[in-house]
Amino acid sequence: MRDIRNFIAGQWCDSVSGKRGQVTNPANRNEVLASTPASEPADAERAIAAAAAAFPAWSRIPAPQRAALLHGVMQKVAAREEEFVQCITAENGKALRESRGEFQAALKEAEFQIGQGRRFGDRLLASEVPGATCYLARQPLGVVTLITPWNFPLNVACRKMLPALIAGNCCVVKPSDLTPISAALLFECVEAAGLPAGVANLLIGRGSVVGDTLVTHPSVQAVSFTGSTEVGIGISRKLESRATKVQLEMGGKNPLVVLADANLEAAVDAAIAGAFSCAGQWCTSTSRAIVEAPIHDAFVARLSEKVRAIKVGRGTDEKIWMGPVCGQKQYETILKFIELGKKEGARLCAGGAALTEGIYRDGCFIAPTVFADVRPEMTIAQEEIFGPVLVVIKAAGFDEALQIANGIKYGLASSIYTNDLAKAQRFVAESEVGLCHVNMITAWKEPQLEFGGIKESGRGAPEAGESGIEFFTHHKAVYVRGAS
Ligand code: NAP
Repeated sequence: MRDIRNFIAGQWCDSVSGKRGQVTNPANRNEVLASTPASEPADAERAIAAAAAAFPAWSRIPAPQRAALLHGVMQKVAAREEEFVQCITAENGKALRESRGEFQAALKEAEFQIGQGRRFGDRLLASEVPGATCYLARQPLGVVTLITPWNFPLNVACRKMLPALIAGNCCVVKPSDLTPISAALLFECVEAAGLPAGVANLLIGRGSVVGDTLVTHPSVQAVSFTGSTEVGIGISRKLESRATKVQLEMGGKNPLVVLADANLEAAVDAAIAGAFSCAGQWCTSTSRAIVEAPIHDAFVARLSEKVRAIKVGRGTDEKIWMGPVCGQKQYETILKFIELGKKEGARLCAGGAALTEGIYRDGCFIAPTVFADVRPEMTIAQEEIFGPVLVVIKAAGFDEALQIANGIKYGLASSIYTNDLAKAQRFVAESEVGLCHVNMITAWKEPQLEFGGIKESGRGAPEAGESGIEFFTHHKAVYVRGAS
């Protein structure tokens, strides 16, 4: 069992109260993986004060040098791959193959953001005044709070922390209380790379206890949050009357539209990879398959057959394809949605229950579940379940499929499977999402493009990509004349 501490002002420290929390293994609820600080508002204030104290010196370091220091952190991370991979699987539950994928994704995103350190700077423009220049200066904000979820505990922390620090800010990272171990490993790398004390601080504790301080403290200039729509909207309400910048990456209910001319096998495989990888716990997971009538029955039959064959087990077993879901609360929520789907009259085609016998007895295991005959207005077709549950909706044609895909409060990711270029182009133009795919899974993303949703899936500037660093800056218009 690990003994984890907060990392504040370059020191590993316990919470002021000395109260402790625990991290348990979703594949075996009886196994305690770590003892953690149960931080309180006083600890959040300490972390914010440490970041504020480090800010003046850090913000004066040129951006390429800040990026080089972060490169040093990521080299330490890269050298500890197997440790990170084992740790992500232990605390989140996902299969080792998926933890390796998350680890590599974190490195790729970091590589891109570190490169941004050499592109980051002011933009010079011609002035209309003879002998004068004008330019747009990009300046850091100060202290920023970075709140991360449990589904990608390493990748999301890196996605936020690197651009925030390269832009010259100092930060407090608050990982999910369910998965703080990977974040603690990341901060061991921060320490080993010699980042100046206070530039990056780690605070472990319940969001419901430390969240208010981290978000509303007067020294905090920006909050970047990834998590549920409910908590995200709550944060934005608290900041309504303040100047604090807010970036919210929230839930999704992502559609995969399958048209009659699509390659059936490819579409089924995309639905499975999109819906059941990481036990359906990607924000960009495929949660609705909207299938054109002529291909619908064949799609449901093939999908159900393949889903019933998915091997579920502990993430540490290299032979399994899908691990448990993360945490007792999420486990219970998913099972309630499954029962609701049955009550709403959807046709259960695969799964539909918890797995509780033998190796599954002590873990949060749920059989991969497919519902067909789902109507767009059903709760299971409207609400984010965030688990291994895929609903299939029949559409009479492309127009109806598009209407169903957009008829939802979320707007994160979507995909269409078709060989009809005109329909694919219309889908790209009219799909109400932040990430759109053609003949690819809904969850695909690459570091050079922005990442973020619209509608109830996102607020504020998107993360990552070329403009990801912008959220962590403010612009100052500067006019200079050489002589007075
Ligand atoms: P969550 O319950 O909203 O928690 C997210 C983070 O917010 C955690 O660190 C949590 O801390 C913290 N938090 C909770 N209450 C808070 C409060 N009152 N003030 C400040 N922070 C608070 O979400 P989750 O269950 O961890 O993650 C799953 C959700 O994230 C899904 O809805 C998924 O779609 C979404 N997600 C979205 C994206 C995206 O980019 N759009 C990416 C990944 C996940 P505790 O753990 O201590 O409660």
